[in-house]
Amino acid sequence: MTQKFGIGVDLGGTKIATALVDGEGRVLARTSCLTEAQDGVQKVLERMYGTVDDVLTEAGIDVGQLAGIGIGSPGPLDSKTGGVLNAPNLGWRNVPLGELFRQRFQVPIQVGNDANLAGLGEKWLGAGKGVSDLLYLTVSTGIGGGIIIDGKIHTGAHDIAGEVGHIIVKRDGPLCGCGRRGCLEAMASGTAIAREAKAGLKRGESSLLAKLAGAGEPTAKHVGEAARSGDPFSTKLLRESFTYLGLGIVSLLNVLDPEMVVIGGGVSNLDDLLFDPVREIVKENFGASPLADVPIVKAELGADVGVLGAAMLVVAQN
Ligand SMILES: [Zn+2]
Repeated sequence: MTQKFGIGVDLGGTKIATALVDGEGRVLARTSCLTEAQDGVQKVLERMYGTVDDVLTEAGIDVGQLAGIGIGSPGPLDSKTGGVLNAPNLGWRNVPLGELFRQRFQVPIQVGNDANLAGLGEKWLGAGKGVSDLLYLTVSTGIGGGIIIDGKIHTGAHDIAGEVGHIIVKRDGPLCGCGRRGCLEAMASGTAIAREAKAGLKRGESSLLAKLAGAGEPTAKHVGEAARSGDPFSTKLLRESFTYLGLGIVSLLNVLDPEMVVIGGGVSNLDDLLFDPVREIVKENFGASPLADVPIVKAELGADVGVLGAAMLVVAQN
């Protein structure tokens, strides 16, 4: 069997990161550049093409040796054609990204959304190695997810599957960016924690948190630091937020029955402050059911998850 190489391109609002990997997911060459979306679609496309040319040259590999190019893009997307329907942070509407890449490179092109690809990356190269059914959640400014079934991303009928941040966990809860109330994202994301921290400071709840935030706004990281120093307000805030996260996961476990749950994103760096309440509520809800013992673990790929997940779309998923 000939060696299979793949390229992953992670298109972000700030940065384009690209890596060439071998069949085992080892990075042979990588590069990145600024997206500078304000220059328009064509310029961004040319920058993306340029990063692909660069990693091919650096690794000394001909485009014909590629199994394909996987691209992670903000969505919503049409994963079948690789079209980007709408990406407000890039100013993109109906950009046939997959088709344009196919014309330029003449190799198979797959496009997927960031959180789905992160799940795929964790399944093949990270915390979920060897697991075939995996639920991935990213908890950062928002909450996203990826459902991996039989080693493949489950995209659903309308490319919406995996939007775990918008399951509703509290009736008449805080307003979510999607327009509904009480979504998981509005209860347990970094943004939600910061919002509650700010409200708490306004009420004069925590002098320690106020000191950590200084002249700026409190962040989830500040709340974590304060909780580690024993601040009661911050401890309670995190415990409540992540109990909701755990409740969301309880629902998802009931629906999906995965082998493993992997949690990534910046807020997962709060470690036990996040994982303890999540694991507790899951245990509490499932009692003697095997779902009580589904491992809930931290993501392992870190900053590389975008490019590696994108590369796995073409290296591992086909
Ligand atoms: Zn929502």
